[in-house]
Parts: sequence; structure tokens; C-alpha cells
Amino acid sequence: MEPVEEVKSRLDIVDVVQEYLPMKPAGSGSFKGLCPFHHEKTPSFYANRPRQSWHCFGCDIGGDVISFVMKMEGMEFREALELLAQKTGVELPAFDPTKTTERKRMHEVNDLAARWFRAILLKDPRAEAARAYVAKRGIDGLTGDLWRIGYAPDGWTNLTDALKEKSVTEEELLKTGLVGRSERGSIYDRFRDRLMFTICDVHGNPVGFTGRILDTPPPVIPTEAQRSGGIPSSEKRQEAKYVNTPETSVYKKSLILYGLDKAKGDIKRQDLAVIVEGNMDAVSSHQFGVTNVVASSGTALTGEQLSLLKRFTRRLAIAFDADAAGNAATIRGLDLARGLDFDIRVITLAPEAGKDPDDAVRKDVALWKDAIAGAVPIVEWLYRNAFRGKDIHTPEGKKTIARAILPELRRIHDAVERDAWIERLAGDLTVSADALRDALRTTSASSSTVRTSATAPSRPQTDGRSSAEDPHPKKSREEMLRERVLAILEIRPELKSLAESILAMYPLRQEGDSDISQYLAILADREFEDQSPSKLQEELTTSATALRDEFLTQEGRRLELEMREAELAGDTVRINELLTQYRSLNT
Ligand SMILES: [Zn+2]
Repeated sequence: MEPVEEVKSRLDIVDVVQEYLPMKPAGSGSFKGLCPFHHEKTPSFYANRPRQSWHCFGCDIGGDVISFVMKMEGMEFREALELLAQKTGVELPAFDPTKTTERKRMHEVNDLAARWFRAILLKDPRAEAARAYVAKRGIDGLTGDLWRIGYAPDGWTNLTDALKEKSVTEEELLKTGLVGRSERGSIYDRFRDRLMFTICDVHGNPVGFTGRILDTPPPVIPTEAQRSGGIPSSEKRQEAKYVNTPETSVYKKSLILYGLDKAKGDIKRQDLAVIVEGNMDAVSSHQFGVTNVVASSGTALTGEQLSLLKRFTRRLAIAFDADAAGNAATIRGLDLARGLDFDIRVITLAPEAGKDPDDAVRKDVALWKDAIAGAVPIVEWLYRNAFRGKDIHTPEGKKTIARAILPELRRIHDAVERDAWIERLAGDLTVSADALRDALRTTSASSSTVRTSATAPSRPQTDGRSSAEDPHPKKSREEMLRERVLAILEIRPELKSLAESILAMYPLRQEGDSDISQYLAILADREFEDQSPSKLQEELTTSATALRDEFLTQEGRRLELEMREAELAGDTVRINELLTQYRSLNT
């Protein structure tokens, strides 16, 4: 039998559909439910067992089990087939058979570890404090099972010993990142005395873990490792709050959204993804029935995460931690999402709801639901943010506020909407709308407050029109070149001085770069891994030279603009200053 037919013959369309949405019998082997592909109140989505097909009378589309999964998961045919083949145990002729089996084995090893952590949490005497912690946080047994929450006991080889007994090799443990290797060459458990959250990929395969320290210190029972002088407890208390699996071939942090495997169905049904920061926020939210929630694990949204989400919805509602709200990295993630045409809202918790969604849910789930329902569009939120702590009565205050908001308004594509904002801003600042329109014309989109420095990634822009109306702002040439140079340096750090000598005053590494380093590593792999050292050096020289020229051109343009402004203002001192800068560029 052909593999495609083989896969289909082992599946039942109704079972597969039911993994995504509830279905009710509708006679003669048919089942019906609310269509996942359009909004409706009465079911017009049918799956038929004898024919092994599905059809929605609302959208007038239908097909077989593979087309259903393709549509549901936003997958290509091959991807969907692979997913279903995995479910049914059919071996597909793989593109790269060694890779497939290696991935599978890593999932298995992570699965064994998750089971072991879970079992420890449930009944091991060493997990007393962890159990108390979980109970205090209100996580019930079902949620714990579903989310595979566990406990890694203190000590250096607990997990290693347990998994070796299950025929897992040291090499496999190292590959999954469950263990580290000490300088002396022995391996040790990476997670010790930590509450364990299992991280799954979008299909529910366990790919990694986050280990969180318990808030309350555990009872002072010396463990095996401590008795043998392993870890002084004072040192242990200084450890990081969270420890994560390092990047592995199945765990790429920039690709993972915690809980997406469990939330994706509801995200699609509600056409809305709620993004929270902490794992616990997501877990509690699901336990209390708000199930379209994923956690970004405290980092800015990446392009990969966004394209994953795009399969399920284009509407995001984001709940920031109060202190992360103004954070440049957080806002950069939003910037990216706006550029990708996501509709973004920002959730603000009422003061009585507590400090994070987890707090809110446990006080009263209605507080959390209300906060989600009351999420405001990103522009509205940025607008309100710009006023925070500023004096709207002084000219200085007005200027600061306008400078913060105008770049955001400039990015609104719809002219009518943009103008409505201008009118509102004019009213709130009691300045003339015309003055603001003038200012808007001279504001460049890249000088927005969310940019941390003048040379941070900027959108391509020559004049106001093209930039404001480009619905898909792309990376600027400067940004792309900079990434190329940095990616080459990832592979060949010894070329750094060459790069620096070409780039001279150009700041290659910038503040807030750490969250793109994973992206750079991927870029480096994809573009440069196979190239010879001499080819790489040549490539670096070309890219760095182009980058320097691009930077000088941009700087020149910026200075020209400023000079024109200074000229209009009749500020001769400033003009001379700018001229000096301008000349120094061209020497
Ligand atoms: Zn439909």
C-alpha cells in the first residue's frame, strides 16, 4: 500500500477531528460540530465515518483527514502527512531518515524524564516541599498530569541514574540537555531541586524543560549529594530562579511558545491568542477554563513564534508583567508582530486583580476574563503610555509626548485613522493639529521611542509615503548586512578584528542584541556553515564594507535632514555642528 493510503487507512476522520473540536452524533455515521474555520453558533461542520470525509456547509469546503489536518494546523501536505504518520506508526520514506529517528529518540528521552519528574512529585518523600508548593499555587492533579509538572530532586545524578536504568545512554542525555558535563568529564543532572515544567512543541512532543526554584526553602534534610559534600546549600540558594534546557536539535527557544500544543485548538476557535509571560500564568489560566493562552516565557516574541501563531490566528492579546511593559525588548517583539499584520491588543490587569494573570485567576477567574475582554489596541496602549508621568501643560512635556507618539501614528496605514489620532492628540495636548501634521511629516518611523539607539534596526524609508504605506515593512539593508556580519563572526570569531577595522566607528554589537543571538546561530548554520575559511573571510569583507557604506549613507541623509531643519530654524550654531559631523563622515 502507498504510504499515504496506509496512513489514512489507520485513522478515523471522526477521531482525528475530535482531537480538535467537540463533535456530536448526527445519524448514519455522521458527526457534527462548530466549524473551526469560521465563526458560527449552530454546527454546520460534519465529519462522516463511512466516507472518511469532512465538510463544512458554512464555508463550503471539505476533504479527507489529511486536508483537515493541513487546514487545522496550517501545514503543508508533507508536514501533515508526517504528523499523521507519526500518530499511526507508519514509516514514511524520510527526507533524512537519521534525523527523523534522532528527533524521535530525543522526544522519547524527554518523555521518560517528564514521567520520572512527575512520579517523583507525586509520591517521592524528597518532593514534600514541592508538593506543598504546588498545592499552595492551587495546581490540581489533572492539570499537573496534563501539563506534566514534576519535580527534580536535589543531587547530581538522580535523573541520570534513573534514565540509565531505562537504557538511555550518556550521549543521549547530553543531546537532550538533561545533563551537563563537568570540566572533569563526568555528567551531572542539570535540574536539581526544581519544580519542572515540561516544554512541548506545537504537536505535543516533549522537547525540553523549565526548572523553577521553589519559593519556600525545602526542609533541611541533607540529600545524598549534600552528605557527600556535593553542594553547599548557601551556594544553591543563589541559583537562578529558572533553568532551561539549552538549545538542542529539538528545542529551539525562539520557536517555542509554552502551552501552544494545548491552546492551539481554542486559539483557532476563538480566533485569539492570549500571550502571558510566565509558565504558571498559562497553567493556571488553562486550569480555570481560559484555554487560548500561551506563555512567551519572558522573552520578546520572535519571528518564528509569530509565524507559528499565524497558523491559528492573527489576533493577539498580550499581558505584560507590569515592570516589563516599557521594556524595549518586549516592545520590539510587538513591533515585529505589527509588521507582520497581526492585530495586537494589550491586556492591563485591574489593580485589584494582582500582579500577574496567575494571581488574577486564583482570586477570581472573572477578573482575568474581564481583563482579556478589555484589552486595548496596541496604538491606544502606546498612546496612553506616552502620557504616563509627563506634564501635558508644559511645552517641554508636550514635545516629549508628541515625539513618543508620532512615530507610532506614522505607521498607521489608514490615512483617516491616522488623522483621527492626530486630532485626538491635538486635543489632548491643546496644540494645533496642523503643527502635529507637520511634525509627523518630518518624523521618521525609525526614530520611535521603541528604538533603543539611533542605529537600531530601521525600516527602509526614503520618504514618508512609501514607508507609511508599506504594509509589510521588511528588514532594512543595514540590518540584514549587520546580521550577516554577526552571523559570520558566530562561526569565525577570530575575524572580529578584521570586521572592526573595516567598520571603524560603526557599533556592531548593540544593546539588547542577546535575544537575536539564537537567530544569528540559525542564520550562520543555514548560510555559512559549509563555507571554507577563505570564502568566509571574503564574505565578511564584502558584507562589512557594504554595511559601512550603508551606514554612512544613512547617517549622511539623517544629517542633511537635520541641517535643513536647523536652517529653517535659523540655528547657525547647530548648522555648523552638523556640517562638521557631515564632513567627518566622508573622510
Ligand atoms: Zn465552516
